[in-house]
Amino acid sequence: MADTIRHNGDAATPDSAHLPARGLAMRDDAMLQVKSLKMHFPIRRGFFRQVVGHVKAVDGVNFFIRPGETLGLVGESGCGKTTTGRAIIRAYHPTAGEILYRRKDGTVVDLIPKTNKELKSYHREIRMIFQDPFSSLNPRMPVLEIVGEPLKVNGIAKGKEMEDRVASLLRRVGLRPEYMRRYPHAFSGGERQRIGIARALALEPRLVLCDEAVSALDVSVRAQILNLLEDLQAELDLTYLFIAHDLSVVEYICDRVAVMYVGKLVELAATDELYANPQHPYTEALLSAVPQPDPALRSRKQRIVLEGEVPDPANPPSGCYFHPRCPYSDGTRCVNEEPPLREISPDHYAACHYSETLRLRGVVAPGVVA
Ligand code: SF4
Repeated sequence: MADTIRHNGDAATPDSAHLPARGLAMRDDAMLQVKSLKMHFPIRRGFFRQVVGHVKAVDGVNFFIRPGETLGLVGESGCGKTTTGRAIIRAYHPTAGEILYRRKDGTVVDLIPKTNKELKSYHREIRMIFQDPFSSLNPRMPVLEIVGEPLKVNGIAKGKEMEDRVASLLRRVGLRPEYMRRYPHAFSGGERQRIGIARALALEPRLVLCDEAVSALDVSVRAQILNLLEDLQAELDLTYLFIAHDLSVVEYICDRVAVMYVGKLVELAATDELYANPQHPYTEALLSAVPQPDPALRSRKQRIVLEGEVPDPANPPSGCYFHPRCPYSDGTRCVNEEPPLREISPDHYAACHYSETLRLRGVVAPGVVA
């Protein structure tokens, strides 16, 4: 049966629908384009540490991000979204695929074959903001050093000039510059995340990968940080890849949303379209968990509780990976044939055999069930 299974990376996906299969061919309107990205980790066992299998954390993922846009990458824990982000900044060396990046001067580079030395200049342009602002900041360094370190390491500023730059960065993220000699423990969670953002901005990046950047924060603080990220995007012309497990967060900040499940994209569309008109049962289930602030509407909303656990990416199910948990599985085609990611309507992609016939429930406006 494996011979008949089609994989997302081979299907008519947002990039392959428009591009030749090989070479540094990139969409004209993209700043970053990920093509057929795979990140497989070997499983080793025994005395000789023989490879006995692979964890397919990312398995043939395609998407692009336009300049100035925010793309959300959403899915449950272990779906491969963080691994995708880390592959883009090349914290990992991907197993296969292309990560095409368009520089300011218009040249296109594939980041995958680059050596660590060659990647240095790209790491100035592509930065990451992490989930846990406390563990990502060195507790033994004052804010001045935390935020100023990238400037120092890259030979951009030191001494008084570095202090001035750090002061300006702190002001930009809403912190008082006079706190720059304090240590991370002296700040609240939200303030620590602002420090992390200031550090990410120190090298004037173009693309920022926000990895669960607000997940660890209280709801009110979360809104403040999301507002800050939006303001910074407008002010500094930033492009974001916003990685989150929660659709209620990405709705607020993202222009388009990609949903991941067991290492593959299962749906990709403009945010409003995806929320109002989901085309994949997994997206429908994630949407049903979005909190409903209006009590009058809350009672109309039915949470879809998925049975079972997220499958092990080392041993995924046959056919559609979602079939063991899908309330709409037909028990035959869904079990035997992997659905490719395909264009259901203009710029709306989904990987379900029955997208055209299922009537899935969405959210027509913030918190309103369709
Ligand atoms: Fe569910 Fe079948 Fe669609 Fe997969 S292909 S999401 S199992 S209906």
